[in-house]
Amino acid sequence: MASLLDRAEHVVLVGHTSPDGDALGATLAMWHFLKSKGKDATVVMPNAFPDTLSWLPGAKDVVLHSADAGRAEAVMAAADVICCLDFNAPKRVGALGDALVASGAVKLMVDHHPDPEGFCGLVISHPELSSTSELVFRLICAMGCWYDLSYESAVCICTGMMTDTGGFTYNANNPETYYIVGKLLEKGIDKDDIYRRVFNTQTEVRMRLVGHMLTDCMAVLQDYASAVIILTKDDFAKYPIRKGETEGFVNMPLSIKGIIFSAFMREDKDMIKVSLRSVGDFPCNEVAQKYFGGGGHKNASGGEYYGSMDEARDLLKKALFEFQDRLLQARRENEEAAK
Ligand code: 5GP
Ligand code: MN
Repeated sequence: MASLLDRAEHVVLVGHTSPDGDALGATLAMWHFLKSKGKDATVVMPNAFPDTLSWLPGAKDVVLHSADAGRAEAVMAAADVICCLDFNAPKRVGALGDALVASGAVKLMVDHHPDPEGFCGLVISHPELSSTSELVFRLICAMGCWYDLSYESAVCICTGMMTDTGGFTYNANNPETYYIVGKLLEKGIDKDDIYRRVFNTQTEVRMRLVGHMLTDCMAVLQDYASAVIILTKDDFAKYPIRKGETEGFVNMPLSIKGIIFSAFMREDKDMIKVSLRSVGDFPCNEVAQKYFGGGGHKNASGGEYYGSMDEARDLLKKALFEFQDRLLQARRENEEAAK
């Protein structure tokens, strides 16, 4: 990787559609690092990221394909290296996928999602790590560049690590994670301030939608150790939030005792977006894969459904029925482990 980046002159860093804190944190951390090495580097994202991330150093320089397809495709075409961060399949970058696959640049994947597809010449895939941003930190250190890691990179890395672990509340039992946070603090970052900026700067309308959602749109199915949230276009008409603002909704039911699987279904323009989360050994990515043409991690996955919300709900019912025994078994195991 070091020699690949050494030789590169024009590097494009790409993250997945609807970029989250890890996608944006990892790409921007690499961007700052490459710029400090004198490289011409550009971050290209398929579409916009949430406002709660717009303060990240470098966020203003990100090229959005959805806003300026011409520029995004031009920098992709001029790149000699394209670094794909926080995704494992061309499908995850939406309309950018074709340009990515067609590009003659050397492609490098830096990611933590299981089962990477073979579209990159060099694949650095570590599903055991809880964030791509943590992987970026490790790679920069492995290249012997800890001392060159800037304050800005450190802020971006910490943001990615923090968002992909829900503020270090899940997938966050690796002692090395905290060693890395310690090293980032040495760079001068303010972890508490990052937490506040990421999690405590939501809009009022989002908070009110949460109230409506938990009261009227959430079914708690203790017989399945599960909860299901459905938000339709009507809900969004009444509470007009931006797309990225539903981030975190799917995790909320997991704070109910006995609930180890949460499904969130959101009616988008032309499809139903499905987000799944689980606690412990229940693999929610199997549900995403089998029923919603998606995938992801054991405890955080998602997919899509092209059809009506009623059909999507029926499909989820089938999935719950199929997985009921395993859900209840996983809940028992969680309870045993907590004793
Ligand atoms: P989220 O629920 O935050 O949108 O996604 C959580 C995780 O699920 C993502 O990091 C990604 O691994 C996976 N994921 C979400 N949507 C899809 C999808 O449509 N296809 C695939 N393969 N994975 C998805
Ligand atoms: Mn990630």
